[in-house]
Amino acid sequence: MTFTTRFAPSPTGPLHLGHAYSALLAHDMAMSEGGDFLLRIDDLDATRSRPEWEDQLKSDLAWLGLRWPTPCRRESDSMAEYDAALDRLWSMGLLYPCTCSRRDIREALSAPQEGPDGLIYPGTCREKRAAFPRPGDRPRDVTLRLDMAQACRMAGVFDHQLETPEGGCRRVAGFTESGAGPAGDTGRIEFTPEDMCAGVGDVVLARKDVGAAYHLAVVIDDDAQKITHVIRGQDLFEATRIHVVLQHLLGLPTPVYHHHRLIRDEAGKRLAKRDDARAIARYRDDGASPQDIRDMVGLG
Ligand code: GLU
Repeated sequence: MTFTTRFAPSPTGPLHLGHAYSALLAHDMAMSEGGDFLLRIDDLDATRSRPEWEDQLKSDLAWLGLRWPTPCRRESDSMAEYDAALDRLWSMGLLYPCTCSRRDIREALSAPQEGPDGLIYPGTCREKRAAFPRPGDRPRDVTLRLDMAQACRMAGVFDHQLETPEGGCRRVAGFTESGAGPAGDTGRIEFTPEDMCAGVGDVVLARKDVGAAYHLAVVIDDDAQKITHVIRGQDLFEATRIHVVLQHLLGLPTPVYHHHRLIRDEAGKRLAKRDDARAIARYRDDGASPQDIRDMVGLG
């Protein structure tokens, strides 16, 4: 299978040095394997996405020397695919509608705990599923959460048996992480149903205003683009477990993952979109060359 990777920015602001590193690294890895580098426009959130940011990011990436096949996939054109996946998960009895605000969630928790998807949801609305007894009657225009405990019990999700040092056995799921081993080699990352229930919880798969949510969209997109290697920042390492569970539920292959280091500012803080001072366009305007950008992010 051809090594295929992607860079998937959201057109909600300028690309900065952190994006440049991620895109260049993915591109270089694909080229060194004789593979393909794809660009995807993650414009699921139409209220924040802007065509002018998309034009700018394409111009910045082309200036950096990157090329990709066109037309590129965009999330706003893929809603029917997300809908079909939500229908499938709904008919499996794994989704429920949730009406809790962020404040409701905080108030329901005595000791709020953050997971890779924000506060770990206390399950307040879980019983609301009972109001929709037929498999085909998925409610629209509502927030839908994944019943994680139920998902973990489904056949094929945690199907690896791992012997414990005490002589017992536990069920795990996992993925291959390139760069996970002590010498930066390839290793396997494993996690248990308990990790998912206690440490992640019932994540949102459809947002009321948007119709789908990031975790669902990314899994469908990566499969649709036949991505064999997902190369993205360390900040998404914990979220990958959610994606692996969804791939198992939907019968999709799990790519190899590589979570790269993050580019930080002098104070050690991760760069953000609003960090205009490090926008690639700003460096361009100030006379930097693409090679200067490579040097700045350590890809000389
Ligand atoms: N659009 C996502 C982001 O900008 C992509 C995340 C991913 O690579 O999975 O963070």
